[in-house]
Amino acid sequence: MKKYAQENKVPIIKDEGLGFLLDIINNEEPKTILEIGSAILYSASMMALNSKANIVTIERDPEMIEIAKKNLKELGLEKRITIIEGDALEVFDQVKNYKFDLIFIDAAKAQYEKFFNLYTPLLTEDGAVVSDNLIFHGLVGTDTSTYSRSLRGLIRKITSYREFLANNTEFQTTFYDDIGDGMGVSYKR
Ligand code: SAH
Ligand code: MG
Repeated sequence: MKKYAQENKVPIIKDEGLGFLLDIINNEEPKTILEIGSAILYSASMMALNSKANIVTIERDPEMIEIAKKNLKELGLEKRITIIEGDALEVFDQVKNYKFDLIFIDAAKAQYEKFFNLYTPLLTEDGAVVSDNLIFHGLVGTDTSTYSRSLRGLIRKITSYREFLANNTEFQTTFYDDIGDGMGVSYKR
């Protein structure tokens, strides 16, 4: 899967970020995990293989979904991982009857705040939200004046999501900027 991701430029979680995520999973022993952004199912299958959790993962790209489904079958993880097909901002109804002990946000960076607000009502009392790519290749916090308009916009969105988390009165967030591509871990206060 890693080789496929590399060759096809699928942005799967970095080793260090994955190790960090799996440490959290080892400590918290979540029974249910929601992932937003399955891609080819790399992170979801690593979480499944390294825990007892059941995982619901959302993906909107049909090409990714096809590969994710193939990998799901090949790994024999159909009983542990459910792939929800569609935009995470539109498929809430398919997920709303679940409760999650962990939510891993790893989809369109510009929409993190919307994902957070939409899905955290499904989080259990001691549950954690892990957000990936909060330094975005080290570009967050740098001088963006020479970057393309779209990259500037993206970095502005990530920066404002960080501010949203930092100022959130319901959740307490710790930022791990030196791990992987920058991870945030939020718990209910
Ligand atoms: N978690 C994966 C990598 C995810 S890459 C891993 O580490 O292995 C981000 C994925 O999120 C892409 O496949 C993209 O299609 C998907 N995505 C982006 N925005 C989305 C949205 N609004 N709803 C569902 N999926 C989305
Ligand atoms: Mg990521």
